[in-house]
Amino acid sequence: MQRRLLEWYDAHAEPFPWREARDPYAALVAAVCAQQTQIARVLEIYARWMAAFPTLADLARADRASVLQTWGRAGYPRRAVSLHETARRCVAEHSGALPRDPEALLALPGIGPFTAAIVRTFGFEEDAPPVDTNIVRVVGRLVFGDLQPARDTPRAEIDTATAALFPPGEGARWNPALMDYGARICTPRPRCEVCVVASMCAARPRFAAGEVAEPVRAQGAFEGSERQTRGRVMQVLRDAAGDAASDAEGASVTLGVLTKRAGATTAEERARVRMLLGRLADEGLAWTDGRRAGLGQRPA
Ligand code: SF4
Repeated sequence: MQRRLLEWYDAHAEPFPWREARDPYAALVAAVCAQQTQIARVLEIYARWMAAFPTLADLARADRASVLQTWGRAGYPRRAVSLHETARRCVAEHSGALPRDPEALLALPGIGPFTAAIVRTFGFEEDAPPVDTNIVRVVGRLVFGDLQPARDTPRAEIDTATAALFPPGEGARWNPALMDYGARICTPRPRCEVCVVASMCAARPRFAAGEVAEPVRAQGAFEGSERQTRGRVMQVLRDAAGDAASDAEGASVTLGVLTKRAGATTAEERARVRMLLGRLADEGLAWTDGRRAGLGQRPA
């Protein structure tokens, strides 16, 4: 199984820039961009981000508003804040570099087991098996015979099986091989007919018999959702920061302008915008003094 998947990877490897860079910071940015995001968008965000902040030191020096501007409409902007905070912590506590130690990596903002494993694999060329949704699907089907392992198999069992399958010394090939296989062959509706490990797969007979994998979860409606309003508020604040005049308040808007530009017309909608602005401020994405609001942190 290992040999076949590695051979498949060697023939089909995606030349993503962070896989070639051997740079822990590039690996970190890629891993954070990849959370809940399609690969085409990851490439776009990654390129924009690395052009604006080529190194950890560049990112640490940047102000919060420009970090959020660069992140733009990529979604879940809390990720940009975590990257920014991580860069500043690395400068303050780790001599300006990402730490190699797994515990120290996990202690940084926004870095969980998956991101830490990606940094170690691609940045430090260490053997660390990351387990993302694609790997959960591939391993769960191959080993446990579940159609949708994310729903059916306890995560601890998938982690144990993934670690057992790991070929020592091959992390930089094996990890992306499993990820890419889950993204291109063993997809939610798997392409078993072209699969190089079908003869070893415990789920293959079930798919061959016509069973289908249930979706993990349906995405809620976007139109009219809190997510949509939150996105609009962030867009108004980014526009204001982009239009910044030279005066101290140029990068901000009054709350009246904010609610109007965010499309709030009723008292209930205006209250919702103010409530979401409060949450964005709590998350470090925006500031407000009760009269005006702006992107990132309030200017000194
Ligand atoms: S046979 Fe089908 S379900 Fe099994 S690993 Fe291959 S693509 Fe996935």
